[in-house]
Amino acid sequence: MAIKLFDTMSRSTRELRQRAPEIPFGMYCCGPTVYGPAHIGNFRTFLLQDVLRRALETDGINVRHVRNITDVDDKTIRRSQEEGKSLAEFTAVWTQKFHDDCDALNMLAPHFEPSAVAHIPLQIAMIESLVKRGHAYVAPDGSVYFRVASDPDYGKLARLDLGELRTQATNSNGDVNAADEYARDNVADFALWKARKPEDGPNFWQSPWGEGRPGWHIECSAMSTYYLGETFDLHGGGVDLCFPHHENEIAQATCACGHSESFAQHWFHSAHLMVDGAKMSKSLGNLYTLADLEAKGFSPMALRYVLISGHYRSQLNFTLKSLDDANSALEKIEKGASRLLAKAGITPEEFSQEISVNETTTAWGAFEPAWNALCDDLNTAGTLGKIFSALAELGKSELTKSEAAASVCGLAKILHALGLKIFIKKKSDAAGDNVPATVAKIAEDRWAAKAAKNWAEADRLRAELAKLGWKSLDRKDGYTLTKI
Ligand code: AMP
Ligand code: ZN
Repeated sequence: MAIKLFDTMSRSTRELRQRAPEIPFGMYCCGPTVYGPAHIGNFRTFLLQDVLRRALETDGINVRHVRNITDVDDKTIRRSQEEGKSLAEFTAVWTQKFHDDCDALNMLAPHFEPSAVAHIPLQIAMIESLVKRGHAYVAPDGSVYFRVASDPDYGKLARLDLGELRTQATNSNGDVNAADEYARDNVADFALWKARKPEDGPNFWQSPWGEGRPGWHIECSAMSTYYLGETFDLHGGGVDLCFPHHENEIAQATCACGHSESFAQHWFHSAHLMVDGAKMSKSLGNLYTLADLEAKGFSPMALRYVLISGHYRSQLNFTLKSLDDANSALEKIEKGASRLLAKAGITPEEFSQEISVNETTTAWGAFEPAWNALCDDLNTAGTLGKIFSALAELGKSELTKSEAAASVCGLAKILHALGLKIFIKKKSDAAGDNVPATVAKIAEDRWAAKAAKNWAEADRLRAELAKLGWKSLDRKDGYTLTKI
């Protein structure tokens, strides 16, 4: 079944496929601004993009995934100065932290991860093209602005009323609201290049218009088209990016190349994560990071489960209880999977190593409805529901070994498409980093053997641990390693 997805631009659900076999499916996702840890709301969006990519790849589509790193803006500059670090030193720390969190959440690394600072000349070239084509103008201070009135298509994505946009920007006296408006011809115009200010410190670059730095939006237009071509397949981000960021990206890219039909052909926006019923925000103090939740004993896999468990077009309310429920759900999948694996004669280790996923097989077995749900506008909630009903049915059925094997294959594929791993330890253990790798490996194997009710193997591995001077204290949802 082909994957269909809602497109914000056309407000319709459309099939996703490669334009030609030799052209990879180009997918650009707006990445993090690296001035602190990404919060779990950001990760809802990044994880849903990860699931979309995995689903496309499961469908046999060759995806080229690009996600940028925003490493220069007001916040990164200000915070680096507060910490007395260079911008590069400061953003490198938070980029690394972001990568660590992505790995922990089992996210596939994008094929390209360009940073704004590493692509300044590319952005300058696009601004030059906009100036040359009459879509941008240079203000007296050396800043460059995009002239919104020069683009008849501006506002198409967010379906804006441009007249309204102009009046909104003036107060009841008709005065322009924003402080630096004097530089712009029209309040809807936005900065492509920002002239150097004293508070930028050493963070400026040379340009045809003098020293300065790029505006907020230009990096995505320049880098997406550089890595994916003037026309590419899909662009993603949270709903908050629809306007103005994505609207401006479209205007910059299409006006710079002169083709109004180019740029992203499909727009994928995911709704926000809420916390205890309110929008997650720093001011409400309801913001969580992965580290906050790990400190409370929750695993990244439980968080992944929670963040992908709701449909991407609906807001999702996050509670700590939902993480407990996710642990129970993962355990339930593990139990059902163990029964199915036993019928198919496949070990949890083989399953975890995805030996059972033979790329040439199209077998979904009992998990076909789960896959169909994923293809139907990335209905992750429906997919999870279908996984549970398939496991329940399989538990009741008399299966031949080959029937069971087909369903094992289907289960492995659907869990892979969701990025969910089972038969892994779900809570971080207290002994942490001091556990030697060999001991940790034996403990993991023992936990997997236990989950598969392979008691003899579990006992053998317990004895091996003891020989090395370690014992495992088991809980319902994990274990802690201690020295004997
Ligand atoms: P930022 O680092 O602020 O540029 O955001 C990175 C990504 O996270 C963007 O795609 C945002 O739209 C998205 N995002 C921000 N807040 C939330 C939230 N509460 N829920 C879901 N996505 C979000
Ligand atoms: Zn962007």
